[in-house]
Amino acid sequence: MGSVRDNFKTKSGDPLTIGVGSGTKWQWLKKARSEDEKDQLVEPLVTTILSALEQGFNHVDTAEMYTTHEEVGEALRRAGYLTDEKAREKVWITDKYYPGGFFTQPPFTESTTASIDVALQKIGTNYLDLYLLHTPFFDPTKTSTGLAIKDIWQQMEQAVRDGKVRYIGVSNFAASHIEEILSYSTIKPVVNQIEFHPFLQEQSPGIAAFCAKNDILIETYSPLAPLFRDDSGKLNETLDKIGAKYQKNNAQVLLRYVMEKGHLPITTSSKAERFKEAMEIHSFELSKEDVALISEEGAKHHFRAFFADERFLS
Ligand code: NDP
Repeated sequence: MGSVRDNFKTKSGDPLTIGVGSGTKWQWLKKARSEDEKDQLVEPLVTTILSALEQGFNHVDTAEMYTTHEEVGEALRRAGYLTDEKAREKVWITDKYYPGGFFTQPPFTESTTASIDVALQKIGTNYLDLYLLHTPFFDPTKTSTGLAIKDIWQQMEQAVRDGKVRYIGVSNFAASHIEEILSYSTIKPVVNQIEFHPFLQEQSPGIAAFCAKNDILIETYSPLAPLFRDDSGKLNETLDKIGAKYQKNNAQVLLRYVMEKGHLPITTSSKAERFKEAMEIHSFELSKEDVALISEEGAKHHFRAFFADERFLS
């Protein structure tokens, strides 16, 4: 039986690879620049995305909050994806709407529609493949737009009807938040992008089963957190043992673990060889026993990198 992941293809019909992210380290790199440099492209970010595309990634993840649309556009342009419609159809672009309410940044525009238009212009394309509402963690009575989830969702649906967006979805949503959207939506969410790795197997209670039941693909960010963000080393022995068996490194085992769970990882690196290694996860499988072992060992330790503040836990 195919997984929900099999439903996702680029417009040209190619299976979707794991995604290359342009947030996290790149977002802060961009923000850290001086005022004089603000309008210039962050070249290491452009070359990073370009090197992922050259290694075979056909899936790029960006967000309004990351302020990386220009770099994503430039990398796609250098890779030849923005020359004509046919070329554009071979790559998948995910973007996210920032509703305000987390960090000190107010919403970037007056409406979701305006944000989509700005993103299209900055990236240099006439449609996005996937557009997500970045988080449910905001209070519309305290944001400059006053837009609630329902208002935003309706504007996202309109963008689909207008041909500006192919699919819509959410990020960091718990089951209760998605149920609210399902109660009024005419176009359903197809993706929930959440933090997922062996130390955080449920970002919110029952979210994996809920998404599976509702045909919602889970895209996972921070899949390498047990190696790169959490320094306990608690999973290393298990990953070493399993990696030796398949002749893969620990990052490849962690990325493949996400795939075996039926989810789709979003990852990033500053090193081209790591993108090459990451793409190799499309050509091996972990046994059910090894997946179970990673889950079991991972569940003994808890680590959450994002939205760990108790305001965000539901
Ligand atoms: P990962 O868990 O993939 O972490 C990436 C980091 O891991 C890089 O900094 C990289 O460092 C390091 N790394 C890569 N390969 C290895 C390896 N073999 N061994 C050890 N370390 C390695 O993902 P992120 O947490 O960075 O998130 C990925 C993307 O997900 C973001 O860029 C963003 O697009 C998205 N995201 C979405 C969020 C949301 O709220 N929707 C929140 C957070 C992220 P190096 O450069 O040295 O290789």
